[in-house]
Amino acid sequence: MQKARLRRRLLDWYDRNARALPWRVSPAARARGVRADPYRVWLSEVMLQQTTIPHAAGYFLKFTGRWPSVQALAAADDGEVMGAWAGLGYYARARNLLACARLVAGQLGGRFPDTEAKLRDLPGIGAYTAAAIAAIAFDRPANVVDANVERVVARLHAVETPLPAAKPQLVRLAGALADAERPGDWAQAMMDLGAMVCRPAAPLCDRCPVADACQARTAGDPDRYPRKSPKPDRPHRHGAVFVLTRGAAVALDRRPSKGLLGGMLGLPTTDWVAERPSEAAARAAAPADAAWRRIGQVEHGFTHFSITLDVYRAEAEPAAAPELIWLPYEQALAETPTLFAKALRLGLLG
Ligand code: SF4
Repeated sequence: MQKARLRRRLLDWYDRNARALPWRVSPAARARGVRADPYRVWLSEVMLQQTTIPHAAGYFLKFTGRWPSVQALAAADDGEVMGAWAGLGYYARARNLLACARLVAGQLGGRFPDTEAKLRDLPGIGAYTAAAIAAIAFDRPANVVDANVERVVARLHAVETPLPAAKPQLVRLAGALADAERPGDWAQAMMDLGAMVCRPAAPLCDRCPVADACQARTAGDPDRYPRKSPKPDRPHRHGAVFVLTRGAAVALDRRPSKGLLGGMLGLPTTDWVAERPSEAAARAAAPADAAWRRIGQVEHGFTHFSITLDVYRAEAEPAAAPELIWLPYEQALAETPTLFAKALRLGLLG
C-alpha cells in the first residue's frame, strides 16, 4: 500500500473511532477549528509518561478541576501538588511539573512554547513529550513514538531487530510514515490504533484499517512483534515499614527531597537493603516505643528494583513521636505513594 493511501485510511479510521479522552479535542471539533489547550495537553502527557490512560484520567480531572490553568498550578502549594500526585508514581515528575508550570507562568507569560526544540528546554519534558505536545497542542509536524506506535510500526514492517536495539529503526520508520498535514491527529491516530486494534496481545487484524500494508499479518504471526530482548532481573530489596496510629490519625514523615519518592509524605521505614532485617533490627528502627506487632508484608515494584516490606503496627501513647506528621487515615491514604498506601491498608486491617 502506498504511504499516502495508508495515511488516508488511518486518518479516516481515526475520524470515526477516536477515543474520547478528557484532554483530547475530537477530530470533528478539530476540523471545526477548535484547538487544544497546551496546558491540558502538557499535563496529560506528563501524567501518561509511565501510567495508563484509565489511571491518569482521574488524576487529570482532579488536577484541572483544582488548578484549571498553568498560572493556577504555578501558584499552588508544593505539598498540595505532591499530595494530589500521590499514586501516580515517579515523584520527580511532580516536582518537575511544578518547576515547569512556574517557569511557563513566570518567564514565558503563561504561554507554552510551540516548537519541539523550545519545549525540550522546559523541566521534565524529554524528546517524546516535546514531540507529543508540539503535534497535539500546536499541530506541528513531529515524530511521536510511544510504545503503541513502536508496536504498530514493528508489525507493519515485521522488524526482526529486538527492542530496545530496534528503537532508532522504529523511530525512522515511524517518521517516514507520519502525516504532515494533520500532525496532531496523526499522532493520536497511531496511538489509538495501537491501543484499540493493534493491541499487545491478540491484535484485531480483521478490524485494522491498514491491514493490507502489514507485513506481520501477511507472515501470519503479528504477536511475534515487536521482538524483545530478555529483560535482566531486577534486584530485590527488603525493609520494614511502621504504621503508628493514634485513634483515627496515622504518623507520616516527609521523605528527603532528593532520591526515590523524594519530597513525598510516607510512612516511617527502615533502610531498604538486600537482606531482610530481623525483627529485632526492625523494632530498633521503629519511630516510637510502642507495642509493635508484625502484621504482614507488602510487595511493590519500582522501575529499578522490587521490594518486600514487613509491616509493623502499633497504637501510640498520646504524646509519642511529636516530630512526625499526624494525618487522618483517609487523608494519609490519599496523599502517600502506592507502596505506603498498601502498607496503610494492611495496617488498618491488622
Ligand atoms: Fe497490527 Fe494486525 Fe493492523 Fe498489522 S494488521 S497493524 S498486526 S492490527
